[in-house]
Formats: sequence, structure tokens, C-alpha cells
Amino acid sequence: MDRRSILRTSTAALGGALAAGCASVAADGGSPRSPFKVAAVTLPIVGSAEVFPVRRIYCIGRNYAAHAREMGSDPTREPPFFFQKPTDAVQYVAIGTTADHPYPSLTKNYHYELELVAALKSGGKNIPIEQALQHVYGYAIGLDMTRRDLQRGMGDQKKPWEIGKSFDMSAPIGPIHPVAVLGNGAQHITKGKIELKVNGQTKQLADLSYMIWSVAEQIAQLSQAFELKAGDIIYSGTPENVGPVVKGDVLVGHIDGLPELSVRIV
Ligand code: MN
Repeated sequence: MDRRSILRTSTAALGGALAAGCASVAADGGSPRSPFKVAAVTLPIVGSAEVFPVRRIYCIGRNYAAHAREMGSDPTREPPFFFQKPTDAVQYVAIGTTADHPYPSLTKNYHYELELVAALKSGGKNIPIEQALQHVYGYAIGLDMTRRDLQRGMGDQKKPWEIGKSFDMSAPIGPIHPVAVLGNGAQHITKGKIELKVNGQTKQLADLSYMIWSVAEQIAQLSQAFELKAGDIIYSGTPENVGPVVKGDVLVGHIDGLPELSVRIV
């Protein structure tokens, strides 16, 4: 079949699917069948039997001034920038457990980045800063694990960061804490200690209020580039003193108001 016939055939098939109504509904009106299963990514919700379905994972880069400087940029000049991890990069870590986190392939410089994660219950485009936090369902503590050598190498070559940032298991995260259960009544996490220890030794220590762009500002900015939706989660950036781990290291992350997150590199 030549290219033109292929095009004609696939256009006809598409027309047929559209004529049938909606391509995602089975003929009998039930759920469409697929030849294999793809697991949905969900996170437990503290205090609830329900789970939080994860739609997209957004991450902001260089959002604490001292970290921006250690990465070689000027924190006073750069607008925020974002990247994504695939949804199934999530590694759920239950409260009170230490999860085995595999040292990934290809890297010789594997770094931790401890971050506050905001989880959205709704979204939109061009969200005003003043309304941004209304879209936040809750918060979690997470690690934005990074193959730093590959991230830097790709950056140096002006190539995409995926191999350094968006690989399997690169997003260890605890359960979602709904805003409603964080304090007496509605309370958002905007300040408080953020600290990462490796083998009991403090490596990262800062305050959430040191963010260059607040969670509300991140939501406003992101929504100019993407239509945000319920289920999106946003890694809000890491403080300074990111650094390498080796197999056997135990990482414990702390953010005031949330339970600790603990992983062992294996
Ligand atoms: Mn990060």
C-alpha cells in the first residue's frame, strides 16, 4: 500500500470511529476493552479510605535562592521553569516505613532533592495567584531523585533533561494530606522547616518560606503554559545542598506538619 492509500484508509477508519460516537465507549455502552492492563497511579489519602489519582507530575527548577546559586544560576533574574516526570515515576512510601529505593542505571552521581509537593483537586488555565490555593487538595513530602551527571551532561549539550529527571521510581512520595486535616480548619503549608538527613546527618536544611516562587505563584505560572487539572501534583523545588547517595544510604526527609519520608538506597 502506498502512503496515500494508507492515509485514505486511516482517515476512513477515523471517520468510522467518529461516526460511531465516541471512540472510548464500547459498543455495548460499557467500559471499552483493552488487550492488556495499565495500572492507575494513585496515592493514599491520610484519614480517608479514598485514594488520590495522579494525573501529571510537574516539578519546578531552582526555586530556592541558595540552590539556584549552587546550580550556577542567578536567583534574582530567572523566571520559574518547569519539567515533568511520568506519572508512574511515583514510588509510594508509607508512613513509618523505609522503602527500598533502587540506585538507577547509567548514573555515577545520584542526588536527592527533598521537596514539598502540592496536590490539586481542580485546575484551569490562567489561574490568578489569589485563587491558586483554592485548587490545592493537599500536600505531601517527596523526593525529586536526580541522575545529576546525566542532567548536567544533557544540559551542557542543550538536550532535554528526561534521562536525568524523568526515569522510573524517580519520585518517592508519602501519602496526600488533605488541607482540611492539616490544622484546625483549612490550612496551607507555606512555611516551616524542610530537612533531609542521610544516615542521620543533616544534609539539607531550610524553611519553606525561602521559596523564590510560592506554591500559589507556581500554580499561576504553570496554568499559563498548561491547563492544570485535578490529580496534578507539583514538586515545589528543593533547598540548597543537594548531594550524592550510594547504596546502603538511608534518607529521611522532614517537613513541618507532615510525617517523615524514609528510603534506603539499594
Ligand atoms: Mn527538584
